[in-house]
Amino acid sequence: MSQKPEDLFKNVISHSKEYGFIFPSSEIYDGLSAVYDYGQLGAELKKNIRDYWWKSMVQLHENIVGIDASIFMHPTTWKASGHVDAFNDPLIDNKDSKKRYRADVLIEEHVSKIEDKINKEVEKAAKRFENFDAVMFRRTNARVKEYDEKIQSITTRFKKALNDNNLEEIKQIIVDLEIVCPISGSRNWTDVRQFNLMFSTSMGSVSEEANTIYLRPETAQGIFVNYLNVQKTGRMKIPFGIAQTGKAFRNEIVARQFIFRMREFEQMEMQFFVKPGTEMEWYEYWKKARLNWHLSLGLGKEKYRFHDHLKLAHYANAACDIEHDFPFGFKELEGIHSRTDFDLKQHETFSGKKLQYFDPELNQNYVPYVVETSVGLDRLFLSILSSSLKEEQLEGGDTRTLLSLPPALAPYKAAIFPLVKKDGLPEFAERIMTTLKFDHQMAYDEKDTVGKRYRRQDAIGTPFCITVDHQSLEDQTVTVRNRDTMVQERLPVDALANFLNERVSLKSLLLTL
Ligand code: ATP
Repeated sequence: MSQKPEDLFKNVISHSKEYGFIFPSSEIYDGLSAVYDYGQLGAELKKNIRDYWWKSMVQLHENIVGIDASIFMHPTTWKASGHVDAFNDPLIDNKDSKKRYRADVLIEEHVSKIEDKINKEVEKAAKRFENFDAVMFRRTNARVKEYDEKIQSITTRFKKALNDNNLEEIKQIIVDLEIVCPISGSRNWTDVRQFNLMFSTSMGSVSEEANTIYLRPETAQGIFVNYLNVQKTGRMKIPFGIAQTGKAFRNEIVARQFIFRMREFEQMEMQFFVKPGTEMEWYEYWKKARLNWHLSLGLGKEKYRFHDHLKLAHYANAACDIEHDFPFGFKELEGIHSRTDFDLKQHETFSGKKLQYFDPELNQNYVPYVVETSVGLDRLFLSILSSSLKEEQLEGGDTRTLLSLPPALAPYKAAIFPLVKKDGLPEFAERIMTTLKFDHQMAYDEKDTVGKRYRRQDAIGTPFCITVDHQSLEDQTVTVRNRDTMVQERLPVDALANFLNERVSLKSLLLTL
């Protein structure tokens, strides 16, 4: 298996299919664009990631509670939130290839290519000079300065065009930068148009416009409209948070990056309600807390970075992304947004109901400010899967496919093998399985040689394989083989439960936070 980034991505997709992690939706009908199904192992991994998020956000915080709001909401919700009028992406078509692109993405990719050129210059210089000072080099090198100025001028112009909603100017930027369609190679572009990303359907009788409802494009609004219900019934004191996980739907224009950008996906969001004026402190707090959460997965510090938003959404006074190094480069994994009091105030205006908090310390009512953390479960899944999939060279020239998932998230925590299918070994193995399966998802396998069984468990990320042999019948011990080190040790059967609990339970991961 090649480790070139473009090949890694292809491998992730084929590995997902081959081992039952992810299938194209309705595949027997040739699939549905940007919609995917999770198979038997994918569903387990996804559930474990969701559980880890939920436990760390809700269970570990006494001032955060979780809810489960409906996908359908009163249509006025989306008027109030701004989604009916402003949840648009600027799209542009190439007339030759007939391919559709997000105009903002074309420009951002152009900028990131210039950034790559700068990084290459810095790397080259770093190799040439001892005691190399990268900051000084960036400030003084003529070529780098030129690149930097180019980036500055594009981003300033682009930011202004976005803020003014000036679609002609966005097209002009694409023309001036001589951006070509990656498929046709031509610059034969249509005008830029706005495209609303919400899916709509109708409730009850079909024809009247009043019955149009939307499939929620984000889970956050379900939290905002329930803010007062939760605050009052839960007697919550500010600062406090409301979390939820659930499906969201967006009619994405560019949807060809596997589960990175889907039309139906799952979000895990938390809205943290704070006293006005304290939001920047909380924004910084959640930036740090969420980055630490990602680092706790052990995929490597170098895989993450922050990216401040060029253009703030209509509701935000500060916003950044935690980006992950996907096989196709650094891209947004999670958003952290200081949403001010925009949403609650809008819902007050549109519903005519007060959504305020009585602060006993100030003896005063106010609409709380909100800091949001919003991560896509599917993107998180992809980040974990793609960072864990490796081809390892073994001694003797052999290779193995290894999925080094964080043990607590692995679909199976351990696999049990009877060495042979006779002499009472399967029965012994099944007895062990019965005692462990109440706490952990376990696999049982008695087919093929043990070597082949190890390979299969390595490829699906099972952290431990437990082999029952003839000695087990005599002294009640088994061999436990570690997925990552391939080291085997002999353990008493009675010690297995503790052994696994310490290494593969979600608690073991939560304790690292
Ligand atoms: P992007 O710029 O990539 O379209 P966004 O800024 O619109 O994302 P948010 O509205 O901030 O995304 O949504 C929060 C999170 O939800 C994102 O960080 C991402 O992980 C996830 N997400 C958003 N859109 C999709 C999608 N189409 N498919 C999968 N996950 C998504």
